[in-house]
Amino acid sequence: MTDIVAEIKALKEREDATILAHYYQNSEIQELADFTGDSLKLARAATQVKTKTIVFCGVHFMAETAKILNPDKRVLLPDLEAGCSLADSCPADKLKQFQDFLRSQGRKFQTVTYINSSAAVKALSDWVVTSGNAVEVIRRVPPDYEILFVPDKHLGSYLEEVTGRKMILWDGTCIVHEVFSVQDLLELKKRYPKAVTVAHPECPANIREHSDFVGGTEGMLRFLGTLKEPTDVLVATEVNMLWQMQHNYPQHRYHPVPGITCACNRCPFMARNTLEKLRDCLAKGEPEIHWQPEFDKAREVLERSLLNGPVKTTVGD
Ligand code: SF4
Repeated sequence: MTDIVAEIKALKEREDATILAHYYQNSEIQELADFTGDSLKLARAATQVKTKTIVFCGVHFMAETAKILNPDKRVLLPDLEAGCSLADSCPADKLKQFQDFLRSQGRKFQTVTYINSSAAVKALSDWVVTSGNAVEVIRRVPPDYEILFVPDKHLGSYLEEVTGRKMILWDGTCIVHEVFSVQDLLELKKRYPKAVTVAHPECPANIREHSDFVGGTEGMLRFLGTLKEPTDVLVATEVNMLWQMQHNYPQHRYHPVPGITCACNRCPFMARNTLEKLRDCLAKGEPEIHWQPEFDKAREVLERSLLNGPVKTTVGD
């Protein structure tokens, strides 16, 4: 382990690279990273990187986003097969078809897209949101427009509750957050009667309604910082997040909420990135994310939504 860590550090220096890692990466990768964060924090961090190369330890759409926001940088992803069930649930051609259908019905709408989506889908959108900024962006959609929210139906229904805006929801889900077991959560609550429960808004409503705090991973960390006493915390999100929680707030005790079929919830796509693949991609300079034609339009939408770039006076329909 130590040898490979030393190798990665040396290669990072040689290749003039910065390592960004999502909170759902395993702890060895998070420990090595220059920046860790949720999608929003990492997308913003990517625009501040000074080195020639970014190695994105996360899934494909995240590395794609880093490339879109940094066209002149080389962006590497340790495993090109690190996908995302949410992104896959909304193919661009199907979204375009549905948008055309809504338009043919005379519906006036804007498309608000969760960042867990391909660049081609972002290019068809008016806004891109993360769980960290979705409420704020939705409030920017003029009230006389309907909202088509893609691809996560659970996050969409949570945003309906919080903002009071009714939305047309795409039928997509995250395979990790979809499967938390409400029975196991209730049993954990019995075992730790004073515990607080934190849940990601990608969880279904039956988990969210038993939670004391619902929010993205950055929001969860901020919430933990407000707990005055050492507390038992039941966590309904990807299990690697517990490492980051422990690292930041070691005074609390963390318990992962089990899934229906497993003891914890690990994202199989994030898990494709390993220290070995991180080393190899630095050594070989691949897999690399290359610029695609749809990136230009996606960039405009991302900058407007995440970096508070210039807002067009008319967007979408
Ligand atoms: S945890 Fe879910 S939403 Fe996040 S990358 Fe994995 S499959 Fe996609």
